[in-house]
Amino acid sequence: MKWLLTLLIILSCSSAFAQCGGVPDLSMFDDFDGITTFLARPEVRHSPCKRTPPTQVEMLAHLNGLRSGVTQSKTVAGAALKDDKELLKLFGEMHNRDPRSAQQGWRYSRGATVSVTPPCKEVLCAMQALYGEELGIQMLYMRSKFGFNTSHLAMQEGDAWPSQDLGTVMAMLEDMPDSILPINEGMRFLHLPARGRGGEEMIAESLMHVYLGWHELNESEQTTSLAHEVGHVFGEGKTDKPEWLNLSGWTKNAANQWVMGRPETAVLGYAQTNPDEDFAETFFMYRYNGAALKRRQPEKYRYMKERVFNGAEYDTVANCSGVP
Ligand SMILES: [Zn+2]
Repeated sequence: MKWLLTLLIILSCSSAFAQCGGVPDLSMFDDFDGITTFLARPEVRHSPCKRTPPTQVEMLAHLNGLRSGVTQSKTVAGAALKDDKELLKLFGEMHNRDPRSAQQGWRYSRGATVSVTPPCKEVLCAMQALYGEELGIQMLYMRSKFGFNTSHLAMQEGDAWPSQDLGTVMAMLEDMPDSILPINEGMRFLHLPARGRGGEEMIAESLMHVYLGWHELNESEQTTSLAHEVGHVFGEGKTDKPEWLNLSGWTKNAANQWVMGRPETAVLGYAQTNPDEDFAETFFMYRYNGAALKRRQPEKYRYMKERVFNGAEYDTVANCSGVP
């Protein structure tokens, strides 16, 4: 099935998409139920306003740009460090116990502060010693810009992200407008070397986790699944509110199961599962096929624009310059 899926993507790129890798033409995705399945989503590559993922030099420039000019000597998470106070703060946010862990230990760094003993006193050097030359910088950048804590040491769970895979995650996160960042301060985003709950089917979930199955996907599918899970994070606190439920006429039946009253408003069959999946798929469609969502579901488009994307639009290439 996976091979068939991959082949279909390649075929569609060589025939229908005369502009593969060039200027995106999204008109061919207008019939989003007809073309897309859950993971085979060519929109990801063809979406307008894609940014180039940061290089190591750019990530270092971002981190050095955080410096306040005030140097401190401090023991943070067991590490005796001497560096700019803003970088020390960032290191602490990644490794110290998060106060929210008392209620939601599964989401934020839990239990006692993890004790690390890097062989150097500067934060960037310490991160590289603890996690690896590339990964250490990626993780600090990720925590600073997007909010996610990717430290398996701090969470005492999972294993170290392969640097290339965290690069794929960051490339997707760069698709989000700056005005809605950070996505969730301190929320975990772990790499778990196991099969997800439900066996081989589960590849990622909104806790946030990626599982072994995620590695078996191609990059477009990986990005699709990640963007879907990030959609769930943005949907928290919104999907049970009338403003969202009314857009598709969601109600509960006698068996307490969700029923979509107007299934024609689903951007994909899977979105009919429940209001959460409806939200995650609509979020995905807004970012990666905004033109089709605007034409087909203007009310859902307006909801995403105003309540999630802070006015940033991706329906035309011309809008890219105005993305905040
Ligand atoms: Zn989902």
